[in-house]
Amino acid sequence: MPHPRDVIVLGLGGMGSAAAYHLAARGHRVLGLERFGPAHHRGSSHGGSRIVRQSYFEDPAYVPLLLRSYELFAKLEHDTGRSIATLCGGVMVGRPESRTVSGSLRSARQWDLPHEMLDAAEVRRRFPTLTPADDEVALYEARAGFVRPESTVAAHLQLAQQAGAELRFEEPVTRWEVLPGGRGVRVHTTDDVYSAGHLVVCPGAWAPGLLAGLGAHFTVERQVMYWFRPRGGSAPFAPERHPVYVWEDAEGVQIYGFPAIEGPDGGAKTAFFRKGSPCDPETVERTVTEAESAAMAAQLRTRLPQLPGSLRKAVTCMYTTTPDEHFVLARHPLHPEAVTVACGFSGHGFKFVPVVGEIVADLALNGTTEHPIALFDPRRDALRAPHRRLATPEGETTT
Ligand SMILES: Cc1cc2nc3c(=O)[nH]c(=O)nc-3n(C[C@H](O)[C@H](O)[C@H](O)COP(=O)(O)OP(=O)(O)OC[C@H]3O[C@@H](n4cnc5c(N)ncnc54)[C@H](O)[C@@H]3O)c2cc1C
Repeated sequence: MPHPRDVIVLGLGGMGSAAAYHLAARGHRVLGLERFGPAHHRGSSHGGSRIVRQSYFEDPAYVPLLLRSYELFAKLEHDTGRSIATLCGGVMVGRPESRTVSGSLRSARQWDLPHEMLDAAEVRRRFPTLTPADDEVALYEARAGFVRPESTVAAHLQLAQQAGAELRFEEPVTRWEVLPGGRGVRVHTTDDVYSAGHLVVCPGAWAPGLLAGLGAHFTVERQVMYWFRPRGGSAPFAPERHPVYVWEDAEGVQIYGFPAIEGPDGGAKTAFFRKGSPCDPETVERTVTEAESAAMAAQLRTRLPQLPGSLRKAVTCMYTTTPDEHFVLARHPLHPEAVTVACGFSGHGFKFVPVVGEIVADLALNGTTEHPIALFDPRRDALRAPHRRLATPEGETTT
């Protein structure tokens, strides 16, 4: 018997909303299931801003995906009339040999991306809020900037619905199963049971429970975003004059931040890139302590001395990190006929949201994609080992 739907999308956060849109836009009957409301704040896709950049220090293999993502972000703005991306420029700062600087330069050179190398004096001259040490340099990329995550999710949900997708919110999936012979799936929620020809699983921080069969090590990490009101006012932090930044210190600790984009009293957002503590999405501590805010302020003091004026707010978010910090994006190895997975975005996935939507649609409908995704294979050995830079709740780093 044919299924009433072609594809069910589990999870309508960053990736799932994009997948639902691309699948529905190609004329398929889509059901999206989300445990919370639209563009909610309890997963990984909230907080007003996400950095986008192309000179990618993580690996040059991401660059073609980023180029496509930029095109799709622009199309999303065009198709919905929403303001999503602001390319205010970005600097990757650190010692020349740091991963942040050397890796960004490697990607820029390999893909011939427009960029400039600035010494410390030039950084201080062009961006007076930034005070790098004399032995630090920066790669400046004019096409870096930020996108708005909630608007991105809302835009994809809107377009998915316009293309005919049925989206159900406040309806958690309790379990899913593949029908005999891989001839479709059955998905159980708190309210009902649905069947479809194919299932796409985009569960964010809930991957360890919903995708245990992958046998991959996921570390769900609590991360904090801080908004500080700059001392002396936020004018120098306006997006017309202030870049986004990723800044690596001599110990390899990275911070990142944004211009002040939430009005004169909104503060400027900043955070540690990889200093989270393991958590469970059901019980994650949402309160941020004064000691945590003080540690953030201390890290800023020598680098952006004006920024840690007073703390406006601090909000938690979650990363779902794989041992090698690369994504998991493929047909499910145990259920290749019926299930596609998109998870383990390891704290750097948002800039890929639109292209992941396109890739998931390719994989779900055709079993393959023309985009280069070899790095994201769920069968790779690296996924079986624990995360090397796992931080304990006390902030100590284990080896
Ligand atoms: C503090 C912070 C800063 C970041 N900064 C950047 C950045 O600057 N640049 C960048 O590129 N990336 C950044 N990221 C990473 C990026 O935001 C994530 O990789 C991305 O949002 C992950 O999207 P997702 O769809 O996997 O997860 P989510 O958006 O969380 O979506 C998963 C969805 O699945 C739903 N779900 C889970 N279980 C069920 C169930 N049982 N039934 C139904 N629905 C379910 C959840 O409710 C959720 O809506 C950052 C992340 C954080 C937390």
